Amino acid sequence: MAREYNMDRRAYLATIGAGTAAGLAGCTGLTGGGGGNTIRPGTAPGFQPFEFRDGGELVGFDIDLTEAIVAETDYELGEWQTFEFDSLIQALTTDKIDMIAAAMTITDDRDETIDFSDPYYSANQSVIVREDGDFAPSSLDDLSGHPIGAQSGTTGETVIQSELIEPGKLEESNYNSYDNYVLAVEDLQNGNIDAVVVDEPVGETFADQRPVSVAFVYETGEQYGFGLRTDDDDRTDAVNSGLQAVRDNGTYEELRNKWFSG
Ligand code: GLN
Repeated sequence: MAREYNMDRRAYLATIGAGTAAGLAGCTGLTGGGGGNTIRPGTAPGFQPFEFRDGGELVGFDIDLTEAIVAETDYELGEWQTFEFDSLIQALTTDKIDMIAAAMTITDDRDETIDFSDPYYSANQSVIVREDGDFAPSSLDDLSGHPIGAQSGTTGETVIQSELIEPGKLEESNYNSYDNYVLAVEDLQNGNIDAVVVDEPVGETFADQRPVSVAFVYETGEQYGFGLRTDDDDRTDAVNSGLQAVRDNGTYEELRNKWFSG
């Protein structure tokens, strides 16, 4: 693992080249975090096409969009740091990172702890199943009695809790929580669970790449935002202006076309 991490980091540093010197210079200040002229972004790979590893390199829509946004501001982009999805908010509030870029849905619950940028992407949930299996649910109720999974701390997990477990439609023991959606989908492929609830764009990507398919979409009308600290209005304002700038200059559209088909 450690070795892999070093290689990832080297590959990453190589790809950002000269920009690194400025980024690191920004990070070596006395602030330790929170202050200075840098935005240190954090994400949770394994959520293709938003953030994932390609030959060790961290890539995806959120990665490109964040870099384009920060380039429009007076801030330097710090090094990317990766966490499990359900550790990102704590990484932000404890100053390990300055910005969450992880397809994170803006929710009231999260909004109590952190601030969000303006919305930058809309999504619903999808329910994915084995492609050639017999199980073909068409509504959440059809999941009753089946072992299912989602990634810890996500809105997919919230749907399972609030729509199935709380109303007594699914035994708690039938819910399996994973650190990462890739592990959930592997368990689905292996037959250990029968369905995974995951954001639709990511469910579609799993369906393109693995023997799974989207059984149905459950409309949640979610909006993704970048997460920032509540006391960090300067970065929040900069990110919002940067987001508007990349929408206005066509970069947003370009990146959407690059990472999403149709
Ligand atoms: N959009 C979902 C959420 O915010 C999932 C995000 C993710 O897994 N990266 O919970």
